[in-house]
This record gives sequence, structure tokens and C-alpha cells, in this order.
Amino acid sequence: MSQISIAQVEKSYQTRHGSVLALADVNLSIAEGEFVSLVGPSGCGKSTLLYMVGGFLKPDSGRIEVDGKLVQKPGLDRGLVFQQYALFPWLTVLQNIAYGLEAAGTPRKQRLAVAAEFVSMVGLKGFEHRYPRELSGGMQQRVALARTLSYDPKILLLDEPFGALDSQTRESMQDELLRICASMRKTVLMVTHDVNEAVYLSKRVVVMSRRPGTIVDEFPVDIDRS
Ligand code: ADP
Ligand code: ADP
Repeated sequence: MSQISIAQVEKSYQTRHGSVLALADVNLSIAEGEFVSLVGPSGCGKSTLLYMVGGFLKPDSGRIEVDGKLVQKPGLDRGLVFQQYALFPWLTVLQNIAYGLEAAGTPRKQRLAVAAEFVSMVGLKGFEHRYPRELSGGMQQRVALARTLSYDPKILLLDEPFGALDSQTRESMQDELLRICASMRKTVLMVTHDVNEAVYLSKRVVVMSRRPGTIVDEFPVDIDRS
């Protein structure tokens, strides 16, 4: 059974110039544990689709289900990571990560200990008490990833997660993500305009095109990552 099921989804945005059909006839099923990339030109609706799976936007018609249940709002079963890390500037690394745990209902006494585990997981030991502005871009993205992973969502929704990073940092983050996903068995849906990144990370690449945004192709990736 698929964990994420997208069927006959359509979505328009209302603008001053009228209605823009962003997505039409989108169908996609993703199994538990899969790593799927969505690629396609800017404006083809990749982010719109990702945010609908996240429950931040509603389709005009069609159905999006996660584990057989209609998605109607955001939930802790789905964790989002954005290109812009969206950390709280007034909280330290440890506090930013603990904030995710607060949202998940982890008791106050356990939060800092659990947050510390995730600090180690993403390689930020020693930086717990830094503020986001005191960190490099790659380190900030690691904090954002740790904050999302800390409440253990089954599904990771990634929107150009490494798009703002220089190529060397991006490569080390990509390997880190693969390692984390393999050990924590996540289902991942990632939006990227970088086909190389999609092929490097995912097991299946789904290709979209625009006017209106829809899925036009998909292919499996079978490379030796060891
Ligand atoms: P992508 O992520 O592939 O670049 P988006 O999902 O961001 O595509 O956008 C899909 C289409 O919907 C584009 O034509 C875009 O201009 C339009 N769109 C996205 N968000 C809005 C919005 N808030 N208001 C109006 N149009 C939007
Ligand atoms: P990354 O973004 O992957 O950490 P960088 O090249 O930006 O890569 O940084 C390399 C290393 O330099 C980091 O892992 C960290 O040890 C150190 N570093 C970077 N920025 C800072 C900073 N603002 N304060 C302290 N150490 C830093």
C-alpha cells in the first residue's frame, strides 16, 4: 500500500490578473521508505504539490492521502525542510531543536537531552549554544534538519533543501541526508531543480512540466551508492 497517495489533484491560484492553473491531473503514489524527487522547470508546481502533501495548502479537487487518511492540515507525521532554514534567530542551536520537540509534546525535562542527541547526529557538537547568525549556511541547514528530525516524522518533505549552499557543503549535506534516511527509514519527497541532485539522492525521479503543472515522466534510479 502506498504511504502517500495523490489522485487527480488540481490547484489554481487567484491573482489580480485572474486565475492561474498551477497543477492539473496530478497522480502519484509513494511507498513507505521510498526517496522520490520532483524535478521540473521553475513554476511547474513542485512546491505547490509539496505544500499540499504537507497540509499547508488544499487542492481545489482531487485527493491527497497519507497512510490512508485525507490530508487536511499539517501534522507531526510530516516534517518540512525549506531552502531558507527558517531558524529562530533569538534561540540557540539547542533551543531551536528543542522547539521542535515542544511542538511534538516531549516533556520539558527530556527536551534538551533529546535535542543534544540530534545535535550530535548532524555533527554540531560544540555548537549547541551558538545562535544561527554565528553559523555557516551549511551548519544552519543542519540545525533545520535536526529540528525536523527530532520529532521523528515518518515523512520528510524537502523543498530545495541544499539550494542555498555552496557545492562542497551541498555534497557533504547530501551524503549526510542519505546516511540519516538509511538509518531512520524515512519516506522522502524532495523538490529540486537540480537533476544531478535528484539522481544522486533518490530512488525514483518524477518529472513535471508546466502550463499546467503536471507529471509528464518518471524513471527509477539504480546506482551503487556504496
Ligand atoms: P515550482 O515550485 O515548480 O517553481 P510553484 O509551485 O512555486 O512552482 O508555482 C506553480 C505556479 O503557481 C507558478 O505559475 C506560480 O507562479 C504560481 N503560484 C505559486 N504560488 C502562488 C501564489 N501564492 N499566488 C499566485 N500564484 C502562485
Ligand atoms: P559547513 O557549512 O559544511 O559547515 P563551511 O565551509 O561553511 O562548511 O564551514 C566549515 C567548518 O568551519 C565548519 O564545519 C565549522 O567547523 C567551521 N565554521 C564555519 N563557520 C563558522 C562560524 N561562524 N563559527 C565557527 N565555526 C565555523
